[in-house]
Amino acid sequence: MIKLHDKYFKPFISAAEIDRAMQKLADAILKDVGDEIPVFVGILNGSFMVVSDFVKKYKNPCEVTFIKLASYEGVKSTEDIQRLIGLTQDLTGRTVVVLEDIIDTGNTLAEVHRIFKNEKVKSLKIATLFYKPEAYKKDFKLHYVGMEIPNKFIVGYGLDYDGLGRNLPEVYQIKETQHMTNLVLFGPPGAGKGTQANFLKEKYNLVHISTGDVFRYNIKNETALGMLAKSYMDKGELVPDQVTIDMLNAEVEKNADANGFIFDGFPRTNAQAEALDNLMDTKDSQINAMIALEVDDEILVERLLKRGETSGRADDADESIIRNRIKEYYQKTAILKDFYSTQNKYYGVDGVGSIEDITKRLSGVIDNL
Ligand code: 5GP
Ligand code: MG
Repeated sequence: MIKLHDKYFKPFISAAEIDRAMQKLADAILKDVGDEIPVFVGILNGSFMVVSDFVKKYKNPCEVTFIKLASYEGVKSTEDIQRLIGLTQDLTGRTVVVLEDIIDTGNTLAEVHRIFKNEKVKSLKIATLFYKPEAYKKDFKLHYVGMEIPNKFIVGYGLDYDGLGRNLPEVYQIKETQHMTNLVLFGPPGAGKGTQANFLKEKYNLVHISTGDVFRYNIKNETALGMLAKSYMDKGELVPDQVTIDMLNAEVEKNADANGFIFDGFPRTNAQAEALDNLMDTKDSQINAMIALEVDDEILVERLLKRGETSGRADDADESIIRNRIKEYYQKTAILKDFYSTQNKYYGVDGVGSIEDITKRLSGVIDNL
């Protein structure tokens, strides 16, 4: 994913695919033009890269020239008129092929036809690397199309977003969902995960997805997924990851306008972490960080024993059980720490101190994502 100005873009068409489409254009045009010496006309700024790569693939003699689309205010100051300028060459009797990077509404193409109307060219052909059929509103024939693409804004390979992105060798598509902050929150028992999750949820308008809660909700409400999960649990079997992922997906979809999610209790394995990445991918999003609260074992034991005195939770009353739970936590999360470290997404946060101090440390991480 890349960011240009305020927008995020995801990889869409690789350099290799572009190269194939360019080759296809060059072959088709060469075949039609035959022995003539064509004049290739690029429309600046966007088509500079298309033209440059195109002519390297065009093996016969040819000429190359550019015209530029300039916008200025029309008679009514609200209208923005686009005019092509710079056609100075005499093209009488020539075979002209206009090379475009992209044809969208076709407005630019209308302007091309306008300026060529009085030129006595032998033939005028239109070639474009990208074409958005859903956006096209004109009837002009497109003689050569490299690739049809959906009606979504792209950048790269000559195309810009407010000046940036033209130099990218591949093409990126705008992300529909703009930036979300998606966190995987970890912490050993007693680290204060619940407290901190509540705080982060408020401060960043995130939705806290606790897998345990999601399971209980689905089972209690007898949703299809809840019943399915229960059928495995009743047999004493592990619920397949896909069932859990489907439940999480439903939660994410229920909260489509959230600024992001805090995943709590998931993932627990490499396979689950990968499945979660895939899920976020389908939402045009990603996990931005795994944040683990780090607290010394002795402090955890002390905190949990104290909690046991008031909560009456049996597993908080016995020191050996507590130590075992902590040990198990480290065994289980080590793989995930590796998984997210490899993606440079692991953040350990000191979980000792006042609640406010810890939330400040967590905010420090999140604000810098
Ligand atoms: P038209 O709507 O006239 O066919 O397209 C005109 C111009 O709009 C193109 O030459 C290009 O500069 C710009 N354009 C259209 N679609 C896109 C797009 O998806 N990305 C970028 N960066 N520019 C586009
Ligand atoms: Mg253009």
